[in-house]
Amino acid sequence: MSSPRQQPQDRLEVSSLQAASPSQASDASGAAPTPKPFLMIWFRCCSTYARIPKSPDGLTYRGRCPKCLAKLEVPVGEGGTNRRMFEAE
Ligand SMILES: [Zn+2]
Repeated sequence: MSSPRQQPQDRLEVSSLQAASPSQASDASGAAPTPKPFLMIWFRCCSTYARIPKSPDGLTYRGRCPKCLAKLEVPVGEGGTNRRMFEAE
């Protein structure tokens, strides 16, 4: 009996498996265009911009004015929000 595993087609299977690995690695390194969970806020109180991160529960964005440390909380609307810029009094 001759073994079919000695045919060169087996090598093609191996190379295709190796080609799949780099795509997973680049996805883990952040190369994929995934939106970062933060909002740009214009703090009118101090006329400055700041980024506030999304809360761990994913329901709000929470942060503070970098100058006067006024708290700000922006709820995440249903289906998310298209706005990436908000004003805070
Ligand atoms: Zn302020």
